[in-house]
Amino acid sequence: MEPCYEIRITQAKKGRGMFSRRFIKAGEEIFLESPMVSVQFAWNETCKYKACQQCLRSMETAEQMYRRLTNKPHFTLPKSNLCEVTPDRHVCCPDCGAPYCCRECYEEATALHHKVLCTGKDGKDHPTSHLIETWKTMHYPPETFNIMLAARLIATVKQKSDPLERKEFVDKLSTFCRSLTNDENNIIHKLLGNQFQHQIEVLREILKESFYEESIKEWFEPDGFKSLLALIGTNGQGIGTSSFSVWATNCEKKIADENLHKELSDLIDELYDDLNNIAGPEFLDCEGSGLYLLQSACNHSCVPNAQVTFPHNNHILSLKAVKDIEPDQEIFISYLDECDRTRSRHSRHRLLRENYLFICNCPLCVSQAYDPDFTSDDDDDDDDDDCMDHN
Ligand SMILES: [Zn+2]
Ligand SMILES: [Zn+2]
Ligand SMILES: [Zn+2]
Repeated sequence: MEPCYEIRITQAKKGRGMFSRRFIKAGEEIFLESPMVSVQFAWNETCKYKACQQCLRSMETAEQMYRRLTNKPHFTLPKSNLCEVTPDRHVCCPDCGAPYCCRECYEEATALHHKVLCTGKDGKDHPTSHLIETWKTMHYPPETFNIMLAARLIATVKQKSDPLERKEFVDKLSTFCRSLTNDENNIIHKLLGNQFQHQIEVLREILKESFYEESIKEWFEPDGFKSLLALIGTNGQGIGTSSFSVWATNCEKKIADENLHKELSDLIDELYDDLNNIAGPEFLDCEGSGLYLLQSACNHSCVPNAQVTFPHNNHILSLKAVKDIEPDQEIFISYLDECDRTRSRHSRHRLLRENYLFICNCPLCVSQAYDPDFTSDDDDDDDDDDCMDHN
């Protein structure tokens, strides 16, 4: 089937944009995409979220996930046959114990990057462990910026024995926006703030010492390394996977009996309330980040007509229309999460400028530009609002 979108050169931030080639109905899937590389957040792994180290699939059953997050070890989830987690297919790397949801994922990881990154049986002294431990002592916003994405990219290049394949992979990366400064607006990326200079050098040293690769030698030099970090910082897409939400969706979709359906719906609302109240809304999913070529062509709007989701409990991204999109219209996503999107124009602009290096001219920002209610320079205090993410 012909894709319903195309990528065109635009005047916007990245010089690229995605446009519809036909009418797209609200709710329709625009495309599915696998990442070039993805990785679970280090803190998420430390907090015992068991995710496949290749596809980020949540490996706990819906019941196990609910029990752990709410601290109710004896809770029994009804309709457990609607949970799609299959523990009998799970495997571990025989050397380092890294968990994978299936043999195929283990083999894929080994073929792509795990040979270089595997910490082996006594992993503490391995450079990968050193890198992760060093990383955990540093706190870079935004969280989608993740040094392990850089390590996986380097390892992927290192493991390719065919020079042509290697070149193709590196060339693809150059499609992403990777400048740290936006010349037009003269904005310096937050990552280059003085307080981070030393930490960036520490990370570069570890990578250079242990994972050096001649064909990408510029990545290990100070400027090339910052540019690599910029690529990850401005293009890293957050990924959230949850076996619990797959179970809940299946209950909604697959139960035909009306009474049972209603009963389960009410229960699911209750369970989500529990999860929100006990674990907190930001702790519901296995979380990580990835680099997606197609998705990175979508520009930002504070009133987007499309949304990124992860409906299959893995890192496969689905872009869905949230409004009807007419032929030839640009397809926009929001780089801000739902909570940040409700902030004032001033706060939104600051977040977008610092993390994504552009000034937003979306219809909402334009309409608020001359409204004194939205333009005040000293409304940053709304940043401390306790914002709850209900989804
Ligand atoms: Zn997997
Ligand atoms: Zn291993
Ligand atoms: Zn805007």
